[in-house]
Amino acid sequence: MKVLRCATLNVVMLLLSGCLDTPMKIPTSLGFDGSFAKKLVEMQTKAGPRVLKSKAHQQTGDLIVGLLKQFKFQVVEQSEYRNIIGSINPENKNRILFTAHWDTRPWADQDTENKDKPGPGANDGGSGVAVLLEMARNLSLSQPKIGVDLIFWDAEDLGTSDKEDSYCLGSQYWTKNPHVKNYSAKFGVNLDMVGAAGARFPIEGYSLQMGKLAVEKVLAAASTAGTSAYFERRQGSYITDDHFYIMKALKIPMMDVIQLRSSGGFYEHWHTHQDTVDKISESTLQAVGNTMLAVIKGEDL
Ligand SMILES: [Zn+2]
Repeated sequence: MKVLRCATLNVVMLLLSGCLDTPMKIPTSLGFDGSFAKKLVEMQTKAGPRVLKSKAHQQTGDLIVGLLKQFKFQVVEQSEYRNIIGSINPENKNRILFTAHWDTRPWADQDTENKDKPGPGANDGGSGVAVLLEMARNLSLSQPKIGVDLIFWDAEDLGTSDKEDSYCLGSQYWTKNPHVKNYSAKFGVNLDMVGAAGARFPIEGYSLQMGKLAVEKVLAAASTAGTSAYFERRQGSYITDDHFYIMKALKIPMMDVIQLRSSGGFYEHWHTHQDTVDKISESTLQAVGNTMLAVIKGEDL
C-alpha cells in the first residue's frame, strides 16, 4: 500500500509438497490459536517470498485454497490476479467481509542492501493470511448463521509511490469484477501487518473518513475481547490499502487494521529482508484473531 504522506477427516495432517518438510497438525478445538497462527506464518515464509509467478506463490495459493476447502468454505479463485475468496453461508444477504493480501513485494526496497530482491514478508502479507486462515478454522467449528467472506488479495504490493493506483491491483480488479454479481457486505476489515510484537493499530485515516461503521464494530469487539490496548482510539495516517478501493468503488465501510507507529511510519521492518518470522508474536496474532472473531459474534444474532 501507499502512504499519503491435504487432510484426513478431522485429524488433519497437512503436507505441502516441496514446501514443508514436516507435517503440520491442525488444532481441533474452538478458539483462536495464536500459536497455530504463527505456524501458518512460518509455512508461508518457508515456501519463500510469494512473488507473482514464483513457485512459492503457486504453492502458497494452493495451500490457502486447500485449507479453506478443508474448513468447508466455498472457494472462488480469480485468474487475472489470483484473488482467493472463501465464503460461508453464501446465500445469506447479511454478510461481513475480512480481507488480507497474500502476495509478497518483489523488492525489499526499504532495505539498505539487496533492494532488488524480495524480503520474506512474514508480517507484510504473512500475518494477515495467517489470521484469516485461523479464523476460517474457527468458523468451521462455530458455524455462524451470518454470511462471512474471507478474501485473500493477490498483487497488492507491486506498486511505486510515484505511480497512482499501482498498489492493490488484486482488490482493484475485484471491485470491477466481484466474484458475485452486485456483491455487497454490511462492513469489512482489511488486515495488513498484524503480527509483530508490540504492534498497535490506531485508526487509519480513510477508515475513519469512509468506514466509520467498521471502525465502531472493531473497537466495540476489542472492548469485548479485552484487546483495546492494541486498538488505539486515536487517528493514524492515511493509507491507500486494499480497503480504500473497496470503500471507493462498492461503498462498503471498511477498517484497515494496520500497524502504524506514533512517529507515523509502518512496521519497522517493512519492505526489508528483516521482515522475518521471529518478529511475529503469538500474542499479537491472538489479540487480532480474538477481536475479529468477536466482530463476527457480535453480528451473528
Ligand atoms: Zn508491503
